[in-house]
Amino acid sequence: MNNDFDIKAWFRRKDGLLVIGGPCSVESERQLLETAAGLSKIKDVKVLRGGIWKPRTRPDAFEGIGEIGLRWMREAKERFGFLTMTEVAMPEHVELALKYGIDILWVGARTVVNPFSVQELANCLRGSDMPVFVKNPIAPDVRLWLGALERMESAGLRYLGAIHRGFASFDDSRYRNEPLWEVPIELRRLRPDIPIITDISHICGCRELLQDTAQRALDLATDGFMVEAHHNPAEALTDSRQQLTPEAMQDLLNHLVIRLKNANNDETKLQIFRKEIDIIDDEILKLIAKRMSVSEKIGEYKKEQKVAVLQMDRWKQVLEDHINKGARLGLSAESVKDIFEIIHKESIGRQL
Ligand code: PEP
Ligand code: MN
Repeated sequence: MNNDFDIKAWFRRKDGLLVIGGPCSVESERQLLETAAGLSKIKDVKVLRGGIWKPRTRPDAFEGIGEIGLRWMREAKERFGFLTMTEVAMPEHVELALKYGIDILWVGARTVVNPFSVQELANCLRGSDMPVFVKNPIAPDVRLWLGALERMESAGLRYLGAIHRGFASFDDSRYRNEPLWEVPIELRRLRPDIPIITDISHICGCRELLQDTAQRALDLATDGFMVEAHHNPAEALTDSRQQLTPEAMQDLLNHLVIRLKNANNDETKLQIFRKEIDIIDDEILKLIAKRMSVSEKIGEYKKEQKVAVLQMDRWKQVLEDHINKGARLGLSAESVKDIFEIIHKESIGRQL
């Protein structure tokens, strides 16, 4: 039984990881209760999630079980003592969730992109004390994410959290949704008072990446996890490749190395800053590699057209522009010149 958990106290104190588990979609009474029974054996899981209305990309997919699923959520809560949590996208979802005693709501990534929808939800929740988590919008726009939280705040909601679930990307990626860790880090910088938990399931899209991603989130001082769990993932009607059995979820949690116990001590802060630097350096390396591949294409073109590799006038102009832009960003002319001379040298080398 997990029924002594006080979510509002967790928001006030933000101590300890908030661990949420449960199926992507509530599918049947049996599925939900079997999954909940499995999850009730995991001491750290305090909240049972379940999607009742599913925002699907294509209209012919399973769009959620609807109101009846809320009855089963209530049953799981009574039987196993979890707090329950579901996604709301429209005012009528909020009304039904309240009617069936859902304890926590989340707003999904597709809804957060639309300020009209978010405002409607906020209006509908005005005056309630409901804890609400706001997922990041599909696009990496920290202001849109923050804006949704602010709309909830303006409606008087006090127990607000964010969920990092990754971002759609056009690049080939191992992830279903690119984590872009710098975005939640920026949200934390802007609003250190709002807890951010990590939805590793929607970031990864497959089971294989979950463990490393959870560890990374923990190293970056996440406040908790949302993990999709299903008693039989192979049979799941939605997101079957990313769901874990409750046993596998327990295993994943057992393998996490908790390095950062107290986010206030100086050593921890140093580690977080270092992780942040590592992430930025990764991005810099990827961008340099991208630049080189474009440069190689230019090299081929120049060869075909019998144009000289080094075009001194163009290079002088580029460097001057970069030095000016750098100055506006607070970078010294000398550093910008050094950095780009090295990059240019490498580029020329490839073209030759
Ligand atoms: C979900 O949590 O099942 C879901 C639909 O998530 P997202 O809004 O992050 O895609
Ligand atoms: Mn899902």
